Amino acid sequence: MSFQYDDRAHAGLKGCFDSGRTRPLAWRLAQLRGLESFLRECEAPIARALQADFRKSEAETWLTETGWLLSETRYVRRRLRGWMKPRRVPVPLHYQPGRAWFTREPLGVVLVIGAWNYPLQLSLAPLVGALAGGNCLLVKPSELAPETSRLLSTELPRFVDGDAIRIVEGGPDLTRELLRHRFDHFFFTGSRNKGREVMTAAAKHLSPVTLELGGKCPCIVTETADLRIAARRIAWAKFLNAGQTCISPDYLLVHESVEAPLLGLIREALKHFYGEDPQTSPDYARMPDRRSFNRLAACLAEGEVVVGGRVDAADRYIEPTLMRGVRPDSQLMQEEVFGPVLPVLRVSALAEATDIVRSGSEPLAIYLFSGRSDDLREVEGRTLSGGICCNDLLFHASIHGLPFGGRGMSGMGAYHGRTGFETFTAPRSVLARSPFPDPDLRYPPYGEHKLRLLRWIVDRFS
Ligand code: NAD
Repeated sequence: MSFQYDDRAHAGLKGCFDSGRTRPLAWRLAQLRGLESFLRECEAPIARALQADFRKSEAETWLTETGWLLSETRYVRRRLRGWMKPRRVPVPLHYQPGRAWFTREPLGVVLVIGAWNYPLQLSLAPLVGALAGGNCLLVKPSELAPETSRLLSTELPRFVDGDAIRIVEGGPDLTRELLRHRFDHFFFTGSRNKGREVMTAAAKHLSPVTLELGGKCPCIVTETADLRIAARRIAWAKFLNAGQTCISPDYLLVHESVEAPLLGLIREALKHFYGEDPQTSPDYARMPDRRSFNRLAACLAEGEVVVGGRVDAADRYIEPTLMRGVRPDSQLMQEEVFGPVLPVLRVSALAEATDIVRSGSEPLAIYLFSGRSDDLREVEGRTLSGGICCNDLLFHASIHGLPFGGRGMSGMGAYHGRTGFETFTAPRSVLARSPFPDPDLRYPPYGEHKLRLLRWIVDRFS
């Protein structure tokens, strides 16, 4: 059952953390194993919940939520013992005898606010890092995926330490209420405006924040790309989750010489994936609510529809759609598309594409399809973004060893794998010295001779 979060509940989590029970490796491993059991035993109810929330298919749910989380949790569990070991640091001769090391300490009580579009992954992937770090935490899944939120609040507590990990359900009012409390870390996934509110709340307590926000991720296709592969991968990544993925390709920048064949191949790939009428495909998701549907359906008038374009408001359905002739000042190009509509822009050179990317704010990801390795170096050198994926899309977020996060307007901080463990811990440095020897050199009075000697030692041994 979801519970009311008030001062007493907050004190309960704080008390649990202060008791020290979340610190030992054994507790952390038990929680991670509990999470794995939840994912395995509840696989079918999870798939049903996501199907009910926005018609997400069982296969996509496994691929991007349950299976992904299982793999991330296992990756972290198997390496955690090593990450928790103190790291020795050499001590320069003039501080000898002594030993120096640092450990990574839990932060305390952490707040995780999830977004609706990957309602399981975005609530539980931060939880993996936070548990590995030995924290207590409060998780608030998104109210826009109500079945998944309910499932998390009723089922997950059966598998983990319910005094240390609490799930609370609700929308904006509840979130504002939660933000009054002093958490030791605020981890937020969602839109920029709400991210600002989270950061403002965290500032009051000088608590650290991680903001996993959205943005416009460009996908560049050069004239040397393997067009068949590019088309299949773009069509898959763009229309997965009906385009509602933070790292979904938001717009295409295609070399003018390959635009027509690429669009033809994407059209073919879509027919192969979803049939003649994607509305009847069991593998094609919907918009979560009428507001999201209306926002995007209105944008279909902002250019020429070259593929797709059919909509059904009652079903919150928008067909996989490609558009040309979209103006730079249109809503489609000014805001994150976040849905199954892909504007296509022609460019005459890679430099023109990177100039367009640089003219906007830093994206969460940049995609490049090219047959020349120099092109990747050029994109790396001329742009800034949270990540880059070359000749594929989305999968850089599945490599657990790669930090995942944005920069600038697409967010701050990162997680996944070891980076998640580091995000939810703080380094603590320790220097243990011997009382002897204790030469006079460091104590006043100094005088010219002592200072010269000190300079020589620091120059020589640092
Ligand atoms: P949203 O900002 O509307 O909601 C996110 C969460 O914030 C929800 O749990 C919501 O209840 C909560 N919230 C509501 N009011 C709030 C307030 N006043 N202050 C703080 N939190 C509040 O976002 P959404 O529609 O769920 O998700 C879509 C956005 O999230 C897109 O921009 C997408 O790109 C981004 N996103 C980013 C990532 C990432 O990993 N970087 C992943 C998924 C989604």
